[in-house]
Amino acid sequence: MTAPLLSVRDVHVSFGGVRAADGVDVEVRQGEVLAIIGPNGSGKTTFINLCTGYVKPHAGSIHLEGRDITRNTPRQITKLGIARAFQIPQLFTEHRVIDNLMLAVAARQGFWQVLAPLDQPAHRQRATALLEMVGLQDQAESDVATLPEGIRKLTDIALALALEPRLLLLDEPTAGVSSGEKFPLMDRLMNVLRSQGVTAVFVEHDMDLVRRYADRVIVWNQGKVVADGPPDEVMNDPAVLRDVVGV
Ligand code: ADP
Repeated sequence: MTAPLLSVRDVHVSFGGVRAADGVDVEVRQGEVLAIIGPNGSGKTTFINLCTGYVKPHAGSIHLEGRDITRNTPRQITKLGIARAFQIPQLFTEHRVIDNLMLAVAARQGFWQVLAPLDQPAHRQRATALLEMVGLQDQAESDVATLPEGIRKLTDIALALALEPRLLLLDEPTAGVSSGEKFPLMDRLMNVLRSQGVTAVFVEHDMDLVRRYADRVIVWNQGKVVADGPPDEVMNDPAVLRDVVGV
């Protein structure tokens, strides 16, 4: 069996008296789509913050393809291949979609590039390719402020892909998107990730999305992973149904 892409071992984090990660062990395998579910306050966002270097564990370790990244900075971790979407609204809404993408492409090349003129042929070419990947080539000249939420989300995905991640962490990818747009957005997102060979972890409250798109589900409760397995199995577990799904 190949080594896991990401390996989180016996990680502990507390905030004051709250144990947000209490001996957490999680492995993410290359190419899988892993969903994280759990009640509010159970530690899902903390897990994403740990994987991206924004929160440091008090104990335990995090490895990316065997490399210890436990003490690396968020910037170093991004460079090593872990990106995050929807962290904060990352888009400059008063600018066009293509400008946002060119900025992300420039930023990927190094901070000094951001100081150079953005609209260079190489930046535009890469930005256009990223928009094509997510099917937004016709929106390149649109102002972000005018876009519906689903299209903004896809733009944000294109920004994350500009970082050339191997692992993409998504915090509720369809939050704020109308119910009719959810499945088409997820279909497109999954196709892009598959075609680019990007492994995905997504935090989700919508159980229909988890059942349809996840290869594996991990369930959080009070800072611990309390279940881990295929969606059919995990989401029929009476304890999960009671504590997480609320039925
Ligand atoms: P979830 O994403 O599952 O809703 P979080 O990871 O955001 O849960 O939070 C887990 C617990 O840790 C909660 O009790 C939350 O209030 C606490 N917590 C998370 N981040 C911080 C922080 N930066 N400072 C203090 N407490 C925090």
